[in-house]
Amino acid sequence: MIDTHCHLTSKQLLPRVGEILADARTAGVRGAITVATSSSDSRACLDLAREHENLWCSAGIHPLYADEPCHWEEIRAVAEDPKCVAWGELGLDNHYDDPPRSLQEKVLTEQLAFIESCEAEGLSKPIIVHSRQSQDDLLAIFRESHLEPSRFVFHCFTGTPDEARRLLDFGAWISFTGAVTFTKSEEIAAAARLVPADRIMVETDSPYMSPEPVRKIRPNQPEYVMHIARFLARLREENFEDFERQLDANAERFFGIRMSPDDDAESTTQ
Ligand SMILES: [Zn+2]
Repeated sequence: MIDTHCHLTSKQLLPRVGEILADARTAGVRGAITVATSSSDSRACLDLAREHENLWCSAGIHPLYADEPCHWEEIRAVAEDPKCVAWGELGLDNHYDDPPRSLQEKVLTEQLAFIESCEAEGLSKPIIVHSRQSQDDLLAIFRESHLEPSRFVFHCFTGTPDEARRLLDFGAWISFTGAVTFTKSEEIAAAARLVPADRIMVETDSPYMSPEPVRKIRPNQPEYVMHIARFLARLREENFEDFERQLDANAERFFGIRMSPDDDAESTTQ
């Protein structure tokens, strides 16, 4: 199992990263992608990814960090490292109005233009999307770009079945967090039932949002992605082992990574 989206550089997790990754391995979670939120965080994520086997990172600017300095050359330098396997997370967040929507949009536009120029020069990566109450706006913006729809994953999906259908029609992938396990999440669960087996991923988005049945335990951490995978396997009436294999294959294909075997991981990380 791999946690395809966590924030190990967050202050709740960073001081205990070695222990957290060891706990994850014990729970059967052998890999993780630590996702960046700003240009300085992109560098911090890469430094961490280089220290650990089966840990990868992304490079990009989160919409809620649009008011921090963006250094595109720094993001590009991070992206050139083989341990950096995605752009993002990027997108729009309509839940908060700080930073203002106009600034979020400006940074998003710059970021997509930057990614297109990198892609044109052969530096190509899938894109992790943060969408909060802004899915249709984002789809319109992405459709205007020259970026391939199947390279986008909408992370932490919390929408309705209709919204999931529109993402799938666009060609994107969908990733689920602990939000799908909450008792009042029937709509998200209904959406999770209709995502094709080869376009679904799971993630903790830790340190936020611990899944059931560990919802009260804070902070969330990568080992708990197992609870989300088990919940989804039950919901989709799939055999857990088969579903887990499918999730691993999906993450490896989408991000272009290959997890090294268990014993390897144990002997080479702290
Ligand atoms: Zn995130």
